[in-house]
Amino acid sequence: MTKKPFVTKEKLEEIAREYPTPFHLYDEKGIRENAKALKEAFAWNKGYREYFAVKATPNPFLIKILQDYGCGCDCSSYTELMLSEAVGATGEDIMFSSNDTPAEDFRLADRLGAIINLDDITHIEFLERALGHIPETISCRYNPGGIFKISNDIMDNPGDAKYGMTTEQIFEAFKILKAKGAKEFGIHAFLASNTVTNEYYPMLARVLFELAVRLQKETGAHIKFINLSGGIGIPYKPDQEPNDIRVIGEGVRKVYEELLVPAGMGDVALYTELGRFMLGPYGCLVTRAIHEKHTYKEYIGVDACAANLMRPAIYGAYHHITVMGKESEPCDHVYDVTGSLCENNDKFAVDRHLPKIDIGDLLVIHDAGAHGFSMGYNYNGKLRSAEVLLREDGSTQLIRRAETPKDYFATFDCFEIGKNLVK
Ligand SMILES: *Cc1c(COP(=O)(O)O)cnc(C)c1O
Repeated sequence: MTKKPFVTKEKLEEIAREYPTPFHLYDEKGIRENAKALKEAFAWNKGYREYFAVKATPNPFLIKILQDYGCGCDCSSYTELMLSEAVGATGEDIMFSSNDTPAEDFRLADRLGAIINLDDITHIEFLERALGHIPETISCRYNPGGIFKISNDIMDNPGDAKYGMTTEQIFEAFKILKAKGAKEFGIHAFLASNTVTNEYYPMLARVLFELAVRLQKETGAHIKFINLSGGIGIPYKPDQEPNDIRVIGEGVRKVYEELLVPAGMGDVALYTELGRFMLGPYGCLVTRAIHEKHTYKEYIGVDACAANLMRPAIYGAYHHITVMGKESEPCDHVYDVTGSLCENNDKFAVDRHLPKIDIGDLLVIHDAGAHGFSMGYNYNGKLRSAEVLLREDGSTQLIRRAETPKDYFATFDCFEIGKNLVK
């Protein structure tokens, strides 16, 4: 299998004439089709709602597109809450799934009427002190511990994760919250990240639905929603089989009908907090080859760096690369594709088989639409790039301008920048 960019070389050259590389490019058509498919896959559940994980791609223009499909916002910080408010999300349009939460974040979430999802049992008291009350609708994050397996494959290691309450704690938390006046309850868990299997959500649903039945029975708390959170992944590698969201929706429906409906809980709404699945494949980082270097290895230097896309540097993550216009040429060269940071791990690819790259070639680094731009940083004084939306009609829209040195220097104003530069 091959991975095809969502733009042609001609179109991309045209876009790059208007917006200098590097930049992040997003595909409106792909975003819309995928959001629609997700909505349809869970349409069997009356209260279903996706709360887009804002941290994955905190761009108001893109969140606006997702709102056309009923999506709310999942936030975990003060500024993410502000961003959600700015795009018109209020009240239960916002899920606040934070951890290690500052009091002022809880206060803003409460002022906006967001649903607060508590990461820990000690946060009950902390929240009550911060707000002066306990909200009527409240959610608790669950961590079953141990290792999360599908068949014999280890998916992830919840017992080693900082998030969520133990089984004992969540029962206790429900009782305390109920005694303090909470009326509607939710439960949430995020047990594995970037799963490329249709079985993750149904497996997670089983864990949460069994817990929900016991919680409602033993504490008398009314469970209004169950939040399956994020974790549905995308095929970063060309040989990976993508998830089928319809199969996932059906898988969850079967478990719902097996466990919740017989328990008289057929009114429970399902929520999701997907980030990567919503936007990952529909964004790419566009960069140009500016250097080639032949030492002990073959290097191609590009004008983007890990400050624009951090995943390869910190996780060794694979991001597929297309050399535009050379899609059908043989991959008979082996390159390290590097950025310019003074960090040897600033490489988008190591020992990658690619067609011969010439200076000036445009490279598309795939699947950067989520956890791409948003993880950017300013190391080495690097500036964040622009974000550009490729509209359905083929036109482009600048949805975030590139940073300039002025932005970089904006947080200290006692030095005048550039006064000694000869004009
Ligand atoms: C990161 C995160 C998500 C989204 O995760 P994806 O892997 O992008 O789907 C959802 N919920 C919470 C609480 C998160 O921290």
